[in-house]
Amino acid sequence: MAKVPERYLEVDPWAVIEKGFHVERNRVSESIFSLGNEYMGVRGYFEEGYSGDSLQGSYFNGLYEETTIPHPQVFNGFSERMCFMVNTVDWLYTRIIVDGEQLDLAKSKFSQFQRNLDLKKGTLERSFVWETKSGKQIRLSFVRFVSMIKHNLGCLRLSMTSLVGKATVEVETGLDFNPIYEMLKHNYWIESKKEEKDGLLAIQAITENSGQQIYSAFRLASADALATKLVQRDKYIGLAYSLALEEGQTSIVDKIVINYADRIKGTESKKVWESGLAVAKANLKTSFDLELASHVGYYNEAWETCGITIDGDNENQQGVNFSIFQLHQTYHGVDPSLNLGAKGLTGEEYHGWTFWDTETYCLPFYLFNNPKAARNLLGFRHHTLPQAKQRALDLDCKGAKYPFCTIDGSESSGTWQHVDLAIHVGLAVFYGIWHYTKITGDKSFLYKEGIEILIEVSRHMATRGDFSPKNGDYGFWAVNGPDEFHIFTNNNTYTCLLAKKTFLYTAEVIAEMKQVAKSEWQAVSKKVAFDEAEIADWKHKADKMRINYDPKTELYEQHDGYFDLPHVDVDKVPVTEFPIYRNWTYDRIFRKNPIKQADVVLFQFLFSHEFPLTSKLANYEFYERRCIHESSLSPSIYSMVAAEIGKHEDAYKYSLHTSRLDLDDYNRNTALGLHTTAMAAAWLLVVYGFGGMRSDGPVLSFNPSIPRDWKGFSFRILYRDAVLNVKVDKQNVTFSTLRGGKVPVEIFGKPYEVDVKDLVVALPADRRP
Ligand code: BGC
Repeated sequence: MAKVPERYLEVDPWAVIEKGFHVERNRVSESIFSLGNEYMGVRGYFEEGYSGDSLQGSYFNGLYEETTIPHPQVFNGFSERMCFMVNTVDWLYTRIIVDGEQLDLAKSKFSQFQRNLDLKKGTLERSFVWETKSGKQIRLSFVRFVSMIKHNLGCLRLSMTSLVGKATVEVETGLDFNPIYEMLKHNYWIESKKEEKDGLLAIQAITENSGQQIYSAFRLASADALATKLVQRDKYIGLAYSLALEEGQTSIVDKIVINYADRIKGTESKKVWESGLAVAKANLKTSFDLELASHVGYYNEAWETCGITIDGDNENQQGVNFSIFQLHQTYHGVDPSLNLGAKGLTGEEYHGWTFWDTETYCLPFYLFNNPKAARNLLGFRHHTLPQAKQRALDLDCKGAKYPFCTIDGSESSGTWQHVDLAIHVGLAVFYGIWHYTKITGDKSFLYKEGIEILIEVSRHMATRGDFSPKNGDYGFWAVNGPDEFHIFTNNNTYTCLLAKKTFLYTAEVIAEMKQVAKSEWQAVSKKVAFDEAEIADWKHKADKMRINYDPKTELYEQHDGYFDLPHVDVDKVPVTEFPIYRNWTYDRIFRKNPIKQADVVLFQFLFSHEFPLTSKLANYEFYERRCIHESSLSPSIYSMVAAEIGKHEDAYKYSLHTSRLDLDDYNRNTALGLHTTAMAAAWLLVVYGFGGMRSDGPVLSFNPSIPRDWKGFSFRILYRDAVLNVKVDKQNVTFSTLRGGKVPVEIFGKPYEVDVKDLVVALPADRRP
């Protein structure tokens, strides 16, 4: 299926620039120009209000409202409560009037419009010239950022210059809790208090059902002495002021905002107010410029550690930089009770939910750039273990069943056919713990929180599975593997394989702890009421696990009976029928063999060194012809495996859409929010794809190749104490460490040790198409 870009933004490696207002693409721009700092995020909507099509979204990570899932009929085990990332306070709220005309880019006359997201500084700037009906011309510029250093802080600078004529400008700026949650078309906020004191304006509100609260405050910091008037409405507090701008004169007004969220139901409202106020007071004297300088400092350091350069391909360079930037904005490890939503903090599609995407796709970016963040992401799973244990009980099992869609750790989706049968989320958590421990060498998480999770996931696997009466195989009946086009399948091989690994790894860690971490083991075994017989049970089940593999063809069958499904030649499906999940009935999808996303090919990628190249080739060729890639999680996996097995054209073809998925709106749904997982995949594609890195073996291994149109590329990864620098050009691959000790690696199958001196290895001819 040909995917076509919708390009309207400038190609620039370090900025996303919109020249001229693309009114029909406004929602797409709002997603792309989103700012965030893990704690809160705000779409790139217009501060001054806009009566055209817009989603004025302002979200807080982990802060949700809840509602009941409307099942026509409820059966035992159905999840009945849905959490969603509710739209919150519009802290950018500004309204501007000149000579009785309100600025509104849907109606006003304007020119020289430009929006610029600066990826080095983490700022969004928008400027244009407003030509008023009364003949005035005013240049306006809005610069905003959400501080990466102080997560409660957001700043907005409004500059206005009168170009033609003397203008009296009336401005109102405030904090507004009136925006609705668009997906459910309702405003969920009840105002609890508002107040103006010593130039600080504050308002607090609580959600209707979940009882979560936000305190929001601002003050204006301005070079001009402003005479301001207090404005109060329902769920709103603001200040109005008026400026007399002489021709050529510029006014600059800075709005410094503190947002403080309390996500614990039942917290006394007074307590939230006092905590918010304390943060606001601590920041009273700060300035836009001071905060901007430390915010930019964060990005200077981040780009220094994890930059990727692509020589000869500005389009991919921009896409990769944008992706890395968005990953930082979405999560950088401040709070272990938070996670990454599939749309980050940029839109309401998927309701702000976290998926198995975190451990499977996003974690490696953090492992090799910011291990503390990686650990904190796993911390989220420990934090939410009680909910996962409850879910397992709800579904007549033991142990922990991690939810498919979640904000607070409970299952938020009512589509039970997908989510309750997708038992592989817990297996993704196992994979994350295993990968984290392997790469960082840090066992402190494993011996305390990690082992507890592993035991509970193993218990789930030991009670969710069964033995076949036919041949005694252990397996999982009625499950849904990664491929969502086949649900209610028996013995999805991905699930069986990862469950087997989970059993064995859990047993191995317990044995290790009994030797080297006795007191930790005693504490954990007591906490989980461990029964020694469980180990023998897991080992037996691992041993009997059904893995559908044919040694003659080296093919893994995706699930029992997959090979028997009626075949569809996916290349012959008319483009008009895509996406097929919208155009075919589910019934039609389930009874044919096209798959939605990487499944067998995914486990061969995750545990790469366990499979011979011949088997990877066989499975790639078999499943590639059957895969529709109707999830943005799929092409990147095929690209990375294609690069490994030497299918360079495919590797490039499948890499194409990922880094620019949102910048070019390939899936025509960027308006709904950015694809966070594809952002992580863009990083994977350079490091694991063309860089050919694999991190599942005894040491890091590299098998690089270079796309035909690239002159060269380089990337840096943090590995233990060292920063490993890898440069690839058409002739050679050069490795060195920028700091830290020696790093043992394998390059094209041979062992080396990398240190500060350049280690140059020739790029074999078959790795440069
Ligand atoms: C994919 C899932 C994924 C979810 C969120 C779905 O389309 O099939 O595997 O977890 O999107 O990214």
